[in-house]
Amino acid sequence: MTTLAELPLRESLRGQEPYGAPQKHLPVELNVNENTHGIPADAVADIAASLAAVVPHLNRYPDREFTELRTSLAAYLGHGTTPEGIWAANGSNEVLQQILQAFGGPGRTLLSFTPTYSMYPILASGTQTAWHPVPRPAGFRLTADGVDAAIRAAAPDLVFLCSPNNPTGTPLDLEVVEAAYAATDGVVVVDEAYSEFQGADAPTALDLLPGRPRLLVSRTMSKAFAFAGVRLGYLAADPAVIDALRLVRLPYHLSALTQTAAVAALRHTDEMLANVDRIRAQRDRIVRELPALGFSPCESAANFVMFQGVEDTRRVFEELVARGIIIRDNGIPHSMRVTAGTEAETTAFLNALGELGERGIR
Ligand SMILES: *Cc1c(COP(=O)(O)O)cnc(C)c1O
Repeated sequence: MTTLAELPLRESLRGQEPYGAPQKHLPVELNVNENTHGIPADAVADIAASLAAVVPHLNRYPDREFTELRTSLAAYLGHGTTPEGIWAANGSNEVLQQILQAFGGPGRTLLSFTPTYSMYPILASGTQTAWHPVPRPAGFRLTADGVDAAIRAAAPDLVFLCSPNNPTGTPLDLEVVEAAYAATDGVVVVDEAYSEFQGADAPTALDLLPGRPRLLVSRTMSKAFAFAGVRLGYLAADPAVIDALRLVRLPYHLSALTQTAAVAALRHTDEMLANVDRIRAQRDRIVRELPALGFSPCESAANFVMFQGVEDTRRVFEELVARGIIIRDNGIPHSMRVTAGTEAETTAFLNALGELGERGIR
């Protein structure tokens, strides 16, 4: 046995912390923004049958270009996207990592507006890309002018814009994306992991893709699509960007099982997304009910709510865990984040928080 400190680790990784959302199995898990409703029975049957048909052929490598999956994803996305302009990997985290491998790296800088997704600095350090966080203004909403000024001042090689933003839930106006793109010669990534929770007619950066070859829009099947266990994230961009990602991806990075499961699930898009409206209703309910419990929730366009005014986040976290409920303490002072679950899960969370408040724990 040895310790990490004794290993000849790369200097830039010394003292770093791995991504660490706790994985506890509790009756009410509202800490990592999964779709807690699960997968509808029809989709389960089709996915299982499709996987069974593939198993006898697993002696062969999968389609390296995952053409059928890219065709299905383009059809799902719409907005003029084509299979040539789609890429996918094992979660959008891997897509983001491939973007940094291709466009970041030593001597290059990634800018984003914090608080934002905690994986961005971790992916930056793993690819030796310098991390340049710019604090969001009060209320967390970005403006075109603020983004323009921050990008021109820092001249980064990459800009990541999370829309809606995790962990705050803040939506992002398309004019902010346009301003970011105009302010840099680098790559601008809009991370739309929670896009479906904004509603069907919500603005999407997909509409800005034509004529903007340095704009990349990433999505995932992990959240609205209730498919976190499969690990399937994807990207829409100019086909030249896809060529760049081919330079860094591992050969056959998407397994035949992953490709098959995702294509089968996309045949059931309407059922897979059937609970999105229920989740949105619970999100809005959390925002509505938290003030009476003494907390200040942030406006959210996603499937989670960040709330401020928590006196002792560690205590609240532990007391909720003791009641079988896990939410997220993401290290932002006096604030926590909760996923909008089923109506029953949301009720359990709100009731537990109310009960803690009556005992003076908040
Ligand atoms: C959950 C999340 C992702 C998605 O991660 P996957 O690797 O696709 O599961 C990407 N971006 C943000 C902001 C997220 O919260």
